[in-house]
Amino acid sequence: MRHHDQATTATALQDQAEAAARQASQALRDAALADPHITYSSGRAPLWVAAQLANVYTAVRAGTATYCPHIDAHHPRIVHAAVWAPGLITCTDCVPELLMPDPIEDDICDRCHQLSDRLHPGAIAGGPLLLTYGLCPPCDAIVNQLPAA
Ligand SMILES: [Zn+2]
Ligand SMILES: [Zn+2]
Repeated sequence: MRHHDQATTATALQDQAEAAARQASQALRDAALADPHITYSSGRAPLWVAAQLANVYTAVRAGTATYCPHIDAHHPRIVHAAVWAPGLITCTDCVPELLMPDPIEDDICDRCHQLSDRLHPGAIAGGPLLLTYGLCPPCDAIVNQLPAA
């Protein structure tokens, strides 16, 4: 009986995680539709973008990620991460406080780390996680030329 209950709980958590993933994907699609500067990618993504997403999941699995106080495993929800804040994962409410880049970081390319006043914002959904980044025009061109992962 106990075994059955655990299996039921695991299934419920899985369903919640999938619902959160669908929400994350939908939120990203909506953002991309509203703002032409936002790149929407899910599933097949440019290699550099996929690598950044893999870095986040590596930190989660390694236990080195930092979370805002509102995230717990029992209530899967959309969570956010940014390439300029490695290992930090927040809920939607904490994005303005914890994940917004400061004015200096806001002008630094996440790939070449050079200052640019024309950063191209992008985002990718990976499961329930939305990962955002900013690329200077040359890096944006390079990243999007490379074959998809
Ligand atoms: Zn939070
Ligand atoms: Zn760059």
